[in-house]
Amino acid sequence: MTLPLPHPALAAADPELAALVGAEELLQAETLRLIPSENYVSRAVLEASGTVLQNKYSEGYAGRRYYEGQQNIDQIERLAVDRAKAVFGVEHANVQPYSGSPANLAVYLAFAEPGDTVMGMALPMGGHLTHGWGVSATGKWFRGVQYGVRQDTGLIDFDQVRELALAERPKIIFCGGTALPRTIDFAAFAEIARESGAVLVADIAHIAGLIAGGAHPSPVPHADVISTTTHKTLRGPRGAMLMSREEHAKAIDKAVFPGLQGGPHNQTTAGIAVALHEAAQPAFAEYARSVVANARALADELLARGFDLVSGGTDNHLILMDLTPKEVPGKVAAKALDRAGIVVNYNTVPYDPRKPFDPSGIRIGTPSLTSRGIGTEHMAAVADWIDRGVRAAGAGDEQALTAIRAEVAELMAAYPAPGLSG
Ligand SMILES: *Cc1c(COP(=O)(O)O)cnc(C)c1O
Repeated sequence: MTLPLPHPALAAADPELAALVGAEELLQAETLRLIPSENYVSRAVLEASGTVLQNKYSEGYAGRRYYEGQQNIDQIERLAVDRAKAVFGVEHANVQPYSGSPANLAVYLAFAEPGDTVMGMALPMGGHLTHGWGVSATGKWFRGVQYGVRQDTGLIDFDQVRELALAERPKIIFCGGTALPRTIDFAAFAEIARESGAVLVADIAHIAGLIAGGAHPSPVPHADVISTTTHKTLRGPRGAMLMSREEHAKAIDKAVFPGLQGGPHNQTTAGIAVALHEAAQPAFAEYARSVVANARALADELLARGFDLVSGGTDNHLILMDLTPKEVPGKVAAKALDRAGIVVNYNTVPYDPRKPFDPSGIRIGTPSLTSRGIGTEHMAAVADWIDRGVRAAGAGDEQALTAIRAEVAELMAAYPAPGLSG
């Protein structure tokens, strides 16, 4: 399969770079992308993110800028903000954070002082680096205390969360994470945050699209602040947003600019506006439902093939597989599956006896394949490929991996990805 070169000016000016972009496009077209934090943005989002808005400096906020010439930029940012407020039902939205990690850092700046205690889920349990984990600035500059999931159920241990919160009295409690296959009980976190006097931050980076589409409960009635990336299930450009009630609007805006950042990336703001417009359409609710239906069907097919899934399955877009019973390390499996045209990431599982750089699990998800229009009827085939791929990884059977790659490419050709030129 070849794709037409979509960037004629780039191809003429820098053929070397253009060739790499073309190769990446082909890779994204031909492979089954199962990384749960990735997606395919629409052509409209791609176009909006690649405009002359790139050329403009806009420090400040709409109507309160430090540079002139904001006649159009102000309208674009207001559009993105208004759409975020409408899609998520929030009083305030800031669309300027450069990405999820800086968005979270802005939350620390708004609500804590260096050295303060903050609480989040431990990284190896499924939390995010920026929730106070030691190697992150958030764990170096703040005192991070960490909760986890129960070993027997793989579910968040709310008794532990409450006990820890009441003992440690954190300024901020983060809920949400990067490897959580189950519904997040925002109300339970809110009750604990209230009891312990903490600001509750719902980090919905992974599930924002599911929430926008009504396929996961919303944190809006419960959380003080909502942090999200825009490029995962929400299917926008790489960026982030912070949302809250009006009472926290000033603190958040001040923390993002001038607290942490300079000029906003206006081309990204435009892409976010387009993605939010798409997320407000009925088709997006259908998409969110299908992401979950596909993940549930895939989990069932994997369980039927003897795979061990953390928490026994999934409620959302994500499945965390513990490959210990298959006697194949996560990294070996992930690299073999990559050769088979199935892109996943190796991941720690809760209470993993192995090291983070060589853990026991792999993490998969259905946002990308669902964006291609692939439905539940294909989840048995996907589970089969994973099963055969993991066995081939264990046996060192390269031929089997090559055979899977051809089968995968055939299904991908039948379901072209949005946004790609071919
Ligand atoms: C992805 C993610 C982030 C960080 O986003 P980046 O854009 O990669 O900085 C933060 N929190 C959670 C829960 C995430 O899943």
